[in-house]
Amino acid sequence: MRLRGLVVGAVTAALTLSMAACGESSDSSGSNPPVNTEVQFEAGTKMADLKQAGKVKIGTKFDQPLFGLKGLDGKPTGFDVEVAKLIAAKMGISADKIEWVETPSKVREEVIEQGKVDFVVATYTINEKRKERISFAGPYYEAGQDLMVKKDDSTITGPDALKAANAKVCSVTGSTPAEKIKTYVDAANIVLFDVYSKCADALRTGQVQAVTTDNVILLGLVDASKGEFKLIGKPFTKEPYGIGVKKGDTKFCQFIVDTLKSAAGDGAYEKAWKDTAGKVAPNVPTLPTADACK
Ligand code: GLU
Repeated sequence: MRLRGLVVGAVTAALTLSMAACGESSDSSGSNPPVNTEVQFEAGTKMADLKQAGKVKIGTKFDQPLFGLKGLDGKPTGFDVEVAKLIAAKMGISADKIEWVETPSKVREEVIEQGKVDFVVATYTINEKRKERISFAGPYYEAGQDLMVKKDDSTITGPDALKAANAKVCSVTGSTPAEKIKTYVDAANIVLFDVYSKCADALRTGQVQAVTTDNVILLGLVDASKGEFKLIGKPFTKEPYGIGVKKGDTKFCQFIVDTLKSAAGDGAYEKAWKDTAGKVAPNVPTLPTADACK
């Protein structure tokens, strides 16, 4: 617990620091991690099947700068995308053999259950409710719920100030922040869309006074706003990100956990961060200790 507290502290510090860097462009560059062509897997495992197929379908976000943002070339970039590429590469699959599937928050469990994707890397908080339907490998990062407001807003200083300000708050259907914010504001003042970029538009046009989700997602939107928005910077939850896999696929889960551990050891995890979110939040996170695969 203490370690996790320190990690959260470090991330918060990184986010605070990074606010100074806002306004700079944060274009994320795509990379092609070395592909593990020699690898052998036990027959019948997801890894063996995917290696044999030579391709993989991965669910991620398409509108979240720093973590998963689709570029003009049709390919997403971001920390989640880099993490996903590392996992594919460990199975002998190069980045150009990945089919990226846009996976908004609400549909993540169902696309895994229905086999529409092989796994999901999409700012996906590990929690008990979701574990009833899918399994998680991770965490590979820990975020925290925060608020984004217009740059000149001085009334909304944290979630406790939302009610007094009679603020309308935007979030996304099927997300953990959409649930949590109910404890701070009346249902009538919560506006839900399917993706966060629509919340940013609603803030821009004044239809809502705040957007709530994970600090790192908001940080990407703040950075992209070129000074129009600001992050409050006081996270009020813990959002450990996991990689969603079919429920009970412990072998695939363990393979992903091992891949993350080796990426943390050989610098690939650090590089993935620095090439993407690290351009705005320079402090490289420490890979959190993985949960047991169940
Ligand atoms: N991490 C939170 C969640 O999984 C919010 C981010 C998102 O909606 O992707 O619900």
